[in-house]
Amino acid sequence: MMELKDKRILVVGLGKSGLASAIFLRKKGAQVTVSDLRSVEALAKELPALLDIGVMVEAGGHGLLTFRRQDWIVVSPGVPLDTLELVQARGFGTPVIGELELASRFLQGKILAITGSNGKTTTTALCGEIFRASGQATQVGGNIGVPVISLVPASTPESWNVLEVSSFQLETIVEFHPNIAVILNITPDHLDRHGTMQNYVAAKERIFENQTAKDFLVLNAEDTESQAMAAKTKAGVFWFSTRRPVRQGSFVYQDAVVWRVSEQAAAEPVLPLSEIPLKGEHNVENVLAAVCSAKLAGISNDVIRKAVGAFRAVEHRLEFVARLGGVEFYNDSKATNVDATMKAIGAFPGGIHLILGGKDKNSDYTLLAPLLKERVRAVYTIGAAAEKIESQITGTVDVIRCQTLERAVDQAASEAKSGEIVLLAPACSSFDQFENYEHRGQCFKQYVLARQGVDAWQNVSA
Ligand code: ADP
Repeated sequence: MMELKDKRILVVGLGKSGLASAIFLRKKGAQVTVSDLRSVEALAKELPALLDIGVMVEAGGHGLLTFRRQDWIVVSPGVPLDTLELVQARGFGTPVIGELELASRFLQGKILAITGSNGKTTTTALCGEIFRASGQATQVGGNIGVPVISLVPASTPESWNVLEVSSFQLETIVEFHPNIAVILNITPDHLDRHGTMQNYVAAKERIFENQTAKDFLVLNAEDTESQAMAAKTKAGVFWFSTRRPVRQGSFVYQDAVVWRVSEQAAAEPVLPLSEIPLKGEHNVENVLAAVCSAKLAGISNDVIRKAVGAFRAVEHRLEFVARLGGVEFYNDSKATNVDATMKAIGAFPGGIHLILGGKDKNSDYTLLAPLLKERVRAVYTIGAAAEKIESQITGTVDVIRCQTLERAVDQAASEAKSGEIVLLAPACSSFDQFENYEHRGQCFKQYVLARQGVDAWQNVSA
């Protein structure tokens, strides 16, 4: 455990986890400074709580001197590590860690950590439900929206901490050591920040760097990057697959999710596929990963089956919104990269009216072409990436430039025929037109639900 009393600690970035870290550190007796690029006005909500307890705050920019003579620097996941001030501080030998690392030094109990390009939140939430249903003390946190540091006070040596961890959080770990680590998949994402795919994979791999032979690593047998990882880890590797039996782990066999504890053991049925309440093969993968983790934690098939059956899609993840005039509307605002959008398209057999666009993350939209041809009737583009997307998918399907989400919903709804789907799965982040993906998803739902009146009126007049 780190000694914090009277230590000088700088927290860089005042997001949710930065704020929680600053308060935690101050309560432990550290001399805490917070530095954020946002102005005093923009931080008005956070400031009083910090100033009240004696945290010093630097707003509107980072002063070079603020980064000097600190014992530790705790950096938020939103702050790039190549920020000049951080590079210089590291040069002076100041340790730079993230909130995940800080929290893990104080967190009691066992850790199940889940990473991957897509499916983290869904799988983390599902694992949380299964572990809770087993009667074990369970807390859920991390990238899912609850800072890990806020789990520290209630953690006990017996409890499970189920953590969603992002590549940005893994970049700043030192000793973080999960008992069970899960890598769901690795497909291109955040290349605007990681630079290359190699850097991105390297960040994800750090989830198992401190694991020992007593720990477990759960990997996707269908993921090419994962094969190489199995050779690098000291942990016991368990696999999951929707396509084929695995040596040890969970897989789909005769329309059921099954579990095999070792190569010599027979596979045992856990639940029928028909009881999975989520759409798409990608969600079967998430369930397999959760089943594998739960079995490694000694949870019974019966408990797992009931908890999976009772689980509901997390908001903004292929969330069913409404059925209007025979057209179904789905909100997958969290599809912020090309792979997630491909999975969303793959969840429907055809007749899709797809809303694409937002802020580009240096993505390759040409990958969408085969699925667009196969299943999509028309694409409706919005936001800053519209032009790039249009140029990369040209010649595949009809593309209608809508600029705004509201117009896209109206256009798609008027084009879609009964039995077809309107799907928001934009393959981009949202920051060009919205606060975040949640805001974008809320707006989508609002525009769709507002049409209920329009459709009723059209039905009457027809
Ligand atoms: P994350 O937390 O990794 O962003 P989410 O569960 O929030 O994952 O899902 C993000 C997006 O990815 C959603 O659009 C969802 O439909 C899609 N998705 C979920 N699970 C998977 C998976 N295993 N593979 C690919 N896409 C997925």
